[in-house]
Parts: sequence; C-alpha cells; structure tokens
Amino acid sequence: NQDKKKLGIALVGLGSYSTYQLAPALQDTQHCYLAGIVTGTPEKEQIWADKYGIPEKNIYNYQNFDDIANNGDIDVVYVVLPNSMHAEFSIRAAQAGKHVICEKPMGISVEECTAIINACDKAGVKLGMGYRLHSEPYTQQVKEYVKEKTFGDILFVSADASYRATGNPDQWRLNKELSGGGALMNMGVYAVQSTIYGTGENPVSVSAQEFSTRPEYFKNTDETITAQFKFPSGAVGNITTSHNFNANAMYVSGTSGWFRLQPANNYGPLSGVTSKGDEIKFPHESQQKLQMDDFARHVLFGEPNKAPGEMGKRDMMIVEAIYQSIANGGETIAL
Ligand code: NDP
Repeated sequence: NQDKKKLGIALVGLGSYSTYQLAPALQDTQHCYLAGIVTGTPEKEQIWADKYGIPEKNIYNYQNFDDIANNGDIDVVYVVLPNSMHAEFSIRAAQAGKHVICEKPMGISVEECTAIINACDKAGVKLGMGYRLHSEPYTQQVKEYVKEKTFGDILFVSADASYRATGNPDQWRLNKELSGGGALMNMGVYAVQSTIYGTGENPVSVSAQEFSTRPEYFKNTDETITAQFKFPSGAVGNITTSHNFNANAMYVSGTSGWFRLQPANNYGPLSGVTSKGDEIKFPHESQQKLQMDDFARHVLFGEPNKAPGEMGKRDMMIVEAIYQSIANGGETIAL
C-alpha cells in the first residue's frame, strides 16, 4: 500500500553505507522509498524485512537479481557494492529496465564507466551517481560563489579528502581487485570534485606523486597521493588524498577574496568561512535524503540530473590520469 507517486528503490549491497545512511534516509524521502533489497548474505534478508517491512517478493540475491525486471514495485536500483562490482550490477539493472544510481567511484576504469552509460542509454533508463554533495547546500553555495564571481576570478583551489584507515588489512577497500585502488579511488574522488566545482572548470592537465609509509598495511593500494591540476582559465589547484591521515577541507582563492569549507566532504553539517568575515551556515538535513529525492525528481518530473553518469566517467578519466602520471614518475598528463 505504498504511495504510488513515490519511486520504489532497491538497495544492492547491504553494507555500512546502505545500513547506516541510505536506508534511514529513505524513511524521510518525499519522492522515493525503500521498496526492495539485494544481498548476498541470507541472514540480512529477515533482519531488513522485519525492520523496514519489505515483502519477500522484493528480496533478491546476486544470482536471481535479474528477475527484478518483472517486479513493478522497483523503479530504481541503487548499487552500493564494492567498486569492482558497480559496473556489472549497474548494467544488469539497466538491462532489467530499472533506473540506476551508482555509488562512487563509478567503476574501476573509464572503460567500465562507458559501458554503464551505454547500457543505460540503450535501455532508456536514467543514470545518476551517488555524489551526495551536489544535493547539499554548502556545495550549492560554492557553485554559486564561483558562478557569481563573488570572490572575483578563481586563481587557486586546494582540496584534501583523507582518513586514517585502520583495522582489518583484508577489507575490500585495501584490496585492489575489489577497490580498483586505495585512497584516490575512495576519498580522492571528493578532492577531485572539489577542485572542479571550486573553479567551475574541468582540469586540462595533471601531475601526481604517491607516498607510502605503511607498505605492510597497504599491500597493493595507494596510501597517500598528491596531484596538481591546471585549468583552462589558468587557475591552478592541488589535491591531497590519503588512507594514512585525516584531512577534510577545501580552499578557494580568487582575485578579490577567498572562502574555505572545513569540513568539506563528510556527511555534514559542513562548515565554512569567507574573506568577507561571513560564516557559511545552513540548517542540516540528511545529504542522502536530498540526493535520492533529487534523483527521484529527475525521473518523475524531468528536473535536472545533478550528478549524471558523465560526471562519474569524467572523474574516472582524471583518476586514471593521476595513476598514469605516478607510473611515469610525475609526468604531466594532458586531459
Ligand atoms: P561495506 O564493506 O560496508 O559493504 C559492502 C557490501 O557489499 C557488503 O556488506 C556486502 O553486502 C556486499 N558485497 C558483495 N560482495 C562483496 C565482497 N566481495 N566484499 C565485500 N562486500 C561485498 O562498504 P560500504 O557500504 O562502505 O561501501 C559500498 C560502496 O558505497 C562503495 O563503492 C563505496 O565507495 C560507496 N560509499 C559511498 C559513500 C558516499 O558518501 N557516497 C560512503 C560510503 C561508501 P551483502 O552482505 O548485502 O551482500
């Protein structure tokens, strides 16, 4: 007896992000609701069914997932799996005729991103990225400062997105086969994004360096990466991303002032100040709720897609260029 004007979302992969962020946010969304689940862990089925009232017919595993094509309750499939599984499940979802939200990073290669976009185009379904910051007010404010030239022409942007990884060294994020890479694939994507909405431009070249202090822990994934960008206007930028220390900020400097967000990329509330002495401050709302409602409004009412698949692919092109630069000793790579 769900409200039929709301889109039914099925979460694929019931790990920590689905459990602690997306499912709770879906209790408050206006235009979509948690209609189904897809899990490889049988014990989770009953727990989620009881907690969220999910009927048995809307519960799938990774083998029978394609049957979701015949389920009218499910409009959108939200892929929340380890990175190397995003492409397979996004493509299977599109082939089942469902709209797709794909978590970041979009895949583990540009080739995978292209394949997801093509599958969604072919199936005639919408595709959005799980880039929650594009739906929250601090990031909107940054975009507006840049567009309105509130601080003049942007000359410089700096962005840090890092946390200190500890615990099980066998976790999928530290396993290249499942993650595609380390800090850069995980938090680095936020830093790359910050430089782009912080300047309003896509970079034209990048050079990058990698640092390693705990090789016994980070066996085959990157620990710390710094990268320098050049933008078409002549603006320059740098990012730092790490699994070895905590850092979460962005700083933008223009011809007539500057602004800073710190934190800049966590679940919020974010916080910011400007050279005019203003505090950047907005009431807090769940970013995930805002993001999923934005996507639902895109599907239902044709409102703009704030984080389309092309954006995920663009970021993966930059990620690949950063890895290429590191492999070539810091060589400048054109984008
Ligand atoms: P978790 O490790 O907590 O959960 C991943 C889930 O994927 C597992 O619980 C499991 O669910 C399923 N899974 C299937 N195969 C495997 C496998 N071989 N190894 C491990 N898990 C497997 O990860 P997160 O929830 O933190 O991250 C999932 C995705 O979401 C990632 O792509 C990540 O980058 C993204 N993410 C995005 C965030 C954002 O802010 N936008 C924040 C956090 C994560 P099951 O038991 O149901 O099969």
